[in-house]
Amino acid sequence: MKVKIKEWNAVASWIWSLDTDRCTICQLAFEQPCPRCKLPGDECPPVTGACNHHFHLHCIVRWTEEQDYCPLDRQKWKVKN
Ligand SMILES: [Zn+2]
Ligand SMILES: [Zn+2]
Ligand SMILES: [Zn+2]
Repeated sequence: MKVKIKEWNAVASWIWSLDTDRCTICQLAFEQPCPRCKLPGDECPPVTGACNHHFHLHCIVRWTEEQDYCPLDRQKWKVKN
């Protein structure tokens, strides 16, 4: 019996591509508002940090109340202008 190693590589690259279109704090895509938003029309734009990671505005605001670093790379969080 042969083990198929190729499939493992395919899964790994698929996981890496995920963090571009969804918020890694709440795991929801940016087309949807964050779980804290009660109405779909609420303003919940994605924000980009200096480290080029994206999060819902509400998700990162809530996160940075407790700590001041990016949840993905632990660099100091700063909104990119
Ligand atoms: Zn979110
Ligand atoms: Zn929100
Ligand atoms: Zn980051």
